[in-house]
Formats: sequence, C-alpha cells, structure tokens
Amino acid sequence: MKVGLLAPPMMDVVDGTLRTISMDAERECPPYGIYLLAAALRSAGHEVVLIDLIAEQSVDLAPHEHELRGCELMGVGATSLSWPSARVVLHQIEKLLPTVPIVLGGIHPTMFDRYVLETSPATYVVRGEGERALLQLCECVAKGGSVADVPGLTWKAPDEKIVRNPVATRIDNEELGAFPVPDYSSLAPNVYKGLAIESSRGCAFDCSFCSTSYRRSWRPIPPEEFVNRLTTVMPHLPLTRYGTTHIIDDEFSMNPRRAVRITEVLRERGLEPWLVYDSRANDLLFPGYVEGMADLTCQFLVGAECGYDEGLKKIGKGTTTEKLRLAAAKLARHGIGERADFSFILGLPWESMDEIRATIRFAAGLHAEFGVRILLQWYLQIPGSRLWEADRAAGLVNESMYNEFGFFRNLYLFRTGVRLSPDEFYEVAQMVEALQRATRVRHPDRRMVEFTFPSAIATYFPVGVMNSRHSGLVRLREVSRPGKAITVEEPKPVDLGVPVGVPRRHFVGYQ
Ligand code: SF4
Repeated sequence: MKVGLLAPPMMDVVDGTLRTISMDAERECPPYGIYLLAAALRSAGHEVVLIDLIAEQSVDLAPHEHELRGCELMGVGATSLSWPSARVVLHQIEKLLPTVPIVLGGIHPTMFDRYVLETSPATYVVRGEGERALLQLCECVAKGGSVADVPGLTWKAPDEKIVRNPVATRIDNEELGAFPVPDYSSLAPNVYKGLAIESSRGCAFDCSFCSTSYRRSWRPIPPEEFVNRLTTVMPHLPLTRYGTTHIIDDEFSMNPRRAVRITEVLRERGLEPWLVYDSRANDLLFPGYVEGMADLTCQFLVGAECGYDEGLKKIGKGTTTEKLRLAAAKLARHGIGERADFSFILGLPWESMDEIRATIRFAAGLHAEFGVRILLQWYLQIPGSRLWEADRAAGLVNESMYNEFGFFRNLYLFRTGVRLSPDEFYEVAQMVEALQRATRVRHPDRRMVEFTFPSAIATYFPVGVMNSRHSGLVRLREVSRPGKAITVEEPKPVDLGVPVGVPRRHFVGYQ
C-alpha cells in the first residue's frame, strides 16, 4: 500500500509572507517521529512518500502532486504550534486526493482528537504512539476492514459520529529498541544541523509547565541496543551541516547509571559522536556521569527553570537552587561548563517582578562563577501542561486558540500566562541587556546569555509608544513585525526648560 507522510513546520506571517519560525527556522534535527514511522511502514512492505515540509520550509504540496498520486492513506503529524500549518496542508490534501482518508498524529491531535476531527477533513487520529497503530490502520484501509479494533484510534464513522477506541497499551522497552531505526537516506543535504535519535521515551517527572507526552513513565532502550541504533544512523551524518547527533529524549540521563554505561559502550566501540541532549541537574551530580561525558564531544541543556526554591517546588522537578549550583560547579571543575546551557523560565503564572529578578540574579551568578551559558525564556501557554489545564478549567484558554497563525504574537494567550505589566517586560529586557553586556567582556565572540523579547509585547506595546508616554519626544522610525529586529530612533535631547520623563534607552529585541 502507498502511504504519504507529512511533517508541516511551525510558521507565521512575517512581513506579509508565510515563513518558518522558532525551532523550525533553526532546523536543529529532522522530525524524528515521521522518519521513524516511514521506516516502520517500509519494513512492513508499504511504499512511503515522506514529505519533510520542515526541511522545505513550506506548506505547499503542489511540487509533490505527482509523487502523492496513488497514495491510499495520508498521514500528517502536528504539535500545537504547527497545527495552523497542518490545517493548510490538510485542505490541500482534501483538494488533491478527495477520496483518500487522512490520519493525524502528534501531540496536538492526541490531546484534542474529537475537536480536530470535527474541524478538519481528517478521518482518523492516532492517539499517542503511532508505530503499532499506524501499521494496523494501514492493514484495515488496504483490506477494507473495520478500524474498530485499532487501539488508540479515534475515527469519524460514516454518519460523522466520532468514535474513540480504547487506549493502546504503551510500547515497552524491548519493542522500542526493536523498531527499525529512522531512515535518513532521503534527507535533504545540508539542511539540518544534525540527526535525531531516541534512547528512551517519556519522563518519570511531571513538571507543572511541561507539555511533553508520556510524563510519569520512562522507558529506556538498553545501552548496547541504543548504541547499535546510533551506529546505524551515523553513516547519514555527512548529510547534515554540523554532524551532530541529537538525542531527543525528554531527559537522556533519567537513569544516570545507564547514561554512564552508554558512554562506556561508545568508548569500547571507538565511537566519537558529537551528542546533543537534555540532562537534569540532579543527574549531573551522580558519581561518574560528568566524568564520562567530559571525554566526549557533547553539548547539553539543563532545565534549571527557576532561581528560587519556592518556584522549583511549585514546578515539581525535584531539584533545588543548591543542587543547580553544585551541578554547575561540577561541570566547571571538569572543564565543561561552557558546554552546558542552563535554561530558565521567566514569567511563570505565579511570578511577579520579585521572582523574575531572583531568577535572573541566580542565573547571572551561575554564569559568572561557573561559566555556563544561560537561556532565559518566557513562559508560553502550550497545551498539555498542568498549568495549561488549570487555565483551561478556569475558562482562560482552549484548543480553538491554536487554529490560526500568530501564536508568538498572540497578546491574549501570552498575557494569560505571564502576568506582568508592559513596563515590567521592558524592565526585564533592560536587566538582561545589562547582563549580556557584562558577559561580552569575557566572551566577545559568543552569546552567553540568550533572551528573546516577547513578540506579543513588542507588537502591541512597541518601545516607541512606551517611551512617548513618558517624554512625548520619541518618534518611531521603524517597528518591525515578529522575526525582525525592533529599532527605534534615539530620542534627541530637547531643552523644554521643564523636567520631562527620562526616555528609555534604545532597545533591540528579536523573535
Ligand atoms: S521538564 Fe523535563 S523533567 Fe520535567 S516533566 Fe518535562 S521532561 Fe520531565
């Protein structure tokens, strides 16, 4: 059977053109799920047309019309932030292949299965893991059988009634390790920085802001098996720009003993991949873990989240500021502080400026003392987390708010999450800018503090307007749309003979 699989990118309208944004503009590594599903379908004897629209930075199916002809099932994967692009793709499929059923997968359709079936031309949603369910669905479609027995499937019956089959059992560790590895042979050359691979699925924790799937369950692939899989994908590394291997696990070192064993197996086999992964600070403190990683070429992200203990408790990650400091200190002792990105969230729903200042001060201290890089990111209303569910229960947010382009400039969505005043956003930006300036003294060639001014605030409360409230003297020369630098004309000192509000400094922000 011939199956089409599509991965639409996150996009937004920038300067009147639909463009890829955020992570999909950076294109770190290929969308793992769709390449894995393609390999699973091919090994079961199906013909697969894999269209990686993220690599193409497009939602236009016209160039693929010919190769899609003859498909009997079309699969589209989507997150909440790529759902607007997926909707564009779905309507094109409906026109191109009007009689071909469409199956949706990915976190957004999984969470809102009924809603997406009611509001799109799709016929099926695979809830959760797709490897088994998609194969069973293909069998049913090919043979004209009933889909009522496909576990984890939600489907539109001929009378348009939505039917939700029972939940599928989770794929276990052994089965995870036995799936075919993603087939990267058709990867567009020099598009992605590296390849993607998973060494485990899920996470034992359930942090309040986190919207990743399969929280409170962690399924690791045994170290030897993982290294076998890694070895199978490594020949495709020359197709990438930097040759990095991104372990896409939520937390690679959930069991540090296993992570240490992986480093040992890599050394035993003489392999030297350049690994990129996520680690918890607590795991870095496990004896032997940092030591094992220090010999490898690697870059890792540590989800530090908050610079004060009360916030860390509310998040529920099981760590403290003391442990974050100890982890950074250990990295510095082993000479790999600069390989770590400590990531913090600003504007969690309970935070006022006091908490945000505490986080920035703490992050600045970690960088100054131990040399780690700092990422300061705003809290975003992404569906699926405990915080989002609480806001949905309070009637503040719902799934229909993710249908249209413009998530990052959506002032309502942004401010239901981050409850600061427009003035306070600019105050935070000035604090961070001062910190960035200070870090440039030691690191003139590398950005050691990453920060993005929120597009929604830049769009609706541009700096020129904010300044003019105080001085009335600022003329706006250019305020960009998201994706471009925001620049304003420096105010010229004018002697009015009376005191006027001090204009804000020139500020440049990026989305
Ligand atoms: S933030 Fe990390 S540790 Fe917390 S639930 Fe998400 S993946 Fe797990």
